[in-house]
Amino acid sequence: MTVTAGGELPDRLHDVIVVGAGVVGTAVARELARHRLRVALVEAGDDVGNGTSKANTAILHTGFDAAPGTLESRLVREGRHRLAAYAEQSGIPVEPVGALLVAWDREQLATLPALAAKAARNGYHATRLLDAAELARREPHLGPGALGALEVPDEWIICPWTTTLAYATQAVRAGVDLHLNCRVQSVTAGTHHELATSRGLLRTRYLVNAAGLHADELDRRLGRQDFTVTPRRGQLIVYDKLARPLVGHILLPVPTALGKGVLVAPTVYGNVILGPTAEDLDDKRDTGSSAEGLETLRATGRRILPALIDEEVTAVYAGLRAATGHDDYRIRAHPRLRYVTVGGIRSTGLTASMAIADYVTGLLGDAGLHLGPARDLEPVPMPNIGEARPRPYQRADLIAADPAYGTIVCHCERVTRGEIRDALTSTVPPGSLDGLRRRTRARGGRCQGFSCGPAVRALFEDGRR
Ligand SMILES: Cc1cc2nc3c(=O)[nH]c(=O)nc-3n(C[C@H](O)[C@H](O)[C@H](O)COP(=O)(O)OP(=O)(O)OC[C@H]3O[C@@H](n4cnc5c(N)ncnc54)[C@H](O)[C@@H]3O)c2cc1C
Repeated sequence: MTVTAGGELPDRLHDVIVVGAGVVGTAVARELARHRLRVALVEAGDDVGNGTSKANTAILHTGFDAAPGTLESRLVREGRHRLAAYAEQSGIPVEPVGALLVAWDREQLATLPALAAKAARNGYHATRLLDAAELARREPHLGPGALGALEVPDEWIICPWTTTLAYATQAVRAGVDLHLNCRVQSVTAGTHHELATSRGLLRTRYLVNAAGLHADELDRRLGRQDFTVTPRRGQLIVYDKLARPLVGHILLPVPTALGKGVLVAPTVYGNVILGPTAEDLDDKRDTGSSAEGLETLRATGRRILPALIDEEVTAVYAGLRAATGHDDYRIRAHPRLRYVTVGGIRSTGLTASMAIADYVTGLLGDAGLHLGPARDLEPVPMPNIGEARPRPYQRADLIAADPAYGTIVCHCERVTRGEIRDALTSTVPPGSLDGLRRRTRARGGRCQGFSCGPAVRALFEDGRR
């Protein structure tokens, strides 16, 4: 098992190097780990899942609203089934809450049957029309004027952090080298690709570009000009857990030509989120929030669920989608270059990740990589940070066996010393306090670390000595 965050890189020829350890790159590395190959996963940041993959709306989509016939439609549909089964096997927090597409005027109401027909063209047949009375019964806190809804029962909520971490953990345990703090700066294509990174040289026969927002730049370094990534910012507001009883489903707007629109949804951690906005920017680092963005969200949220706006805000965050101006993923194999680009994974990459990984592995095989037989990987039971199943502080059996699970460090999120210790000694340990938060939720609650911050920091620093 090799995870490095500094120092010299190994001087060996890899079969495949995957650039970018987001949910897509880690899924690809995990899929490749099923074959007898020398694989490395390299990441510019100090942790896996630290780019777009850490800041999304965390919905396991059905793909009911995708453009029929696209690669995205197919991979979201397949990916959903795979990830739902994988979550069950690995203990990734997931909740089958279902979605309601709420119609607020006659025009939107008239659109719902067409959306049901589109869902059927995408292979999804479980939608159902609800009249205003049934909708009000199912969601009693909805704002006035809702006329009906389309129910999509298989839109679920999931933990994006545990998903990425599970893929990375399983890949590393199966022999993939993970190199963090390792930005690929240039690529020299030849008999073997030579990658100049911020930590030295790496060599590989085949290359996969899963660099998210930066996939277009890496593509150009290999002489390709197939797409340009425009960061499309999505700002979100996280409401306190006290707001959770206000909403039972993911409340979706009826989509327009401008995109999926703003939703209200529960999270697997027991909060409620409102968002995201959709703003095209120039700066791929601009994950800040803006007063206008938050005001727009509050105005929209007030219409959907008026009582939500009076609830306390726990946090705000923003993620950047990798928009390309194309209506589909930009996944392309370049066999002569022994290279696959996984670009333009916009709003659905978390859901589609396992199917994307399978597709990319097939493309590498078609491009000449000898894959050999695939093996099953050892399952990885992931720590539970969701509210649907008992957390360690609620489990008398765990606490009796190890009192560290009975010692709460973060009181808002009920995170125990045992969980923090486990995260710090895990296969892919956190490189920062934020990484520790994504693994345990410590400092992620209503006080945002005001109370537990020093204790969590002390444990983090001790654990790294
Ligand atoms: C607001 C918002 C809401 C969303 N909601 C959902 C949802 O509900 N459901 C869903 O399925 N999807 C959703 N998505 C989409 C999903 O989050 C993305 O499709 C997915 O996270 C993309 O993963 P990725 O691995 O391609 O990119 P990233 O997570 O960005 O990973 C790319 C990685 O590459 C690294 N990298 C870049 N350049 C280099 C380099 N030169 N060298 C080394 N490393 C490099 C980066 O540091 C980064 O970690 C949403 C996205 C946003 C922004």
